[in-house]
Amino acid sequence: MKDKGRRPEFLIFGSPAIGEEEIAEVVATLRSGWLGTGPRVQRFEADFRAYVGCAHAVALNSCTAGLHLALEVLGIGLGDEVITSPVTFSATANVIVHVGATPVFADVDPRTMNLDPEAVARAVTSRTKAILPVHLAGRPCDMDALLEVARRHGLAVVEDAAHATEARYRGRPIGSIGDLTAFSFYVTKNLVTGEGGMLTTQNAAWAEEIRIKALHGISRDAWKRYSAEGFQPYDTLLPGYKYNMTDLQAALGIHQLARLETNLKVRERHWRRYDEAFADHPLLRTPAPVDTRDRHARHLYTVLLDTERAGMSRNEFIVRLKTENIGTGIHFTPLHLHSYYAKTFGFTRGQFPAAEWIGDRTVSLPLSAKLTDEDVEDVITAVFRVLER
Ligand SMILES: *Cc1c(COP(=O)(O)O)cnc(C)c1O
Repeated sequence: MKDKGRRPEFLIFGSPAIGEEEIAEVVATLRSGWLGTGPRVQRFEADFRAYVGCAHAVALNSCTAGLHLALEVLGIGLGDEVITSPVTFSATANVIVHVGATPVFADVDPRTMNLDPEAVARAVTSRTKAILPVHLAGRPCDMDALLEVARRHGLAVVEDAAHATEARYRGRPIGSIGDLTAFSFYVTKNLVTGEGGMLTTQNAAWAEEIRIKALHGISRDAWKRYSAEGFQPYDTLLPGYKYNMTDLQAALGIHQLARLETNLKVRERHWRRYDEAFADHPLLRTPAPVDTRDRHARHLYTVLLDTERAGMSRNEFIVRLKTENIGTGIHFTPLHLHSYYAKTFGFTRGQFPAAEWIGDRTVSLPLSAKLTDEDVEDVITAVFRVLER
């Protein structure tokens, strides 16, 4: 490694690439007189349907809202169980609790870090209603095997595709496979709308119910009530939620979606550079190669630190990278070890060894399309320097 000095300014983890088109569309929305859910949301939904190749897409204010509504339309509630991965963000399991059901974790495959279909099959009971796979880091889960377990036991499949907007499984886009799929457009994700999400399904009745539930349970879209189409009083059909996306968010989403493939190519280039730089590093394990039939959405580049031989913990590694002005992330500390889940459901360390092994060693390096090649070299230099000490 060249002897380079410390990077002068802090490299923020997950800083998004925002183009002039997004900025102009937001300004145009502000000038249009309508900021709420309206024509831009409709266009974003239509564009997203075309991108994913699904029949229905409902824009929401988060992926969490999408996962919650997905479990609700499936009628999952008190006494039911939903099987998911412990290696995920809190929201994935929180929504299971929100509907009154019990989250049941199954361990992951240590290589792909995604749900192990055999562990899922072992976790099925007479109360199980759904499987909630997470396409971690953007790598598609083994959907054929998971769908087979679901079919055998009559379970629904709700996918957490927060990381996986561009992912494909055996040529099929994620969002067109399971019963319902939720995407995230949170500030660090591959497509950002500030806050936002999308729920896709092939089922027209579910899509209609989701649309109503996402906007107070009322019968008509607000912008239609006030538009030239004529006044329509609304009716409350059920006690819905405030989960709708606004045109201001969709203004960002329309152009972020248009540039999604270009941004993916940039991240693929950064990914290859990291792979090449760290392939032979004795203390790091790079992400497993992707099945050639699939497409990885390249959301997170995670390395596993050999904490025993490095003589430092993963957390120490992160602190040292921070002093080198490199921001990193942890995806994730397994949920069964978080206070609420451990206390409420009695989970303990040792129950999900692969998840725990990953949770102790995983570090996500910056991988935004906003990064320059020079930024990526700074990350590589810092990682080598921290591990040399
Ligand atoms: C970000 C994230 C979510 C939640 O997405 P929001 O849009 O913030 O609600 C859910 N699951 C995973 C795996 C995530 O990373």
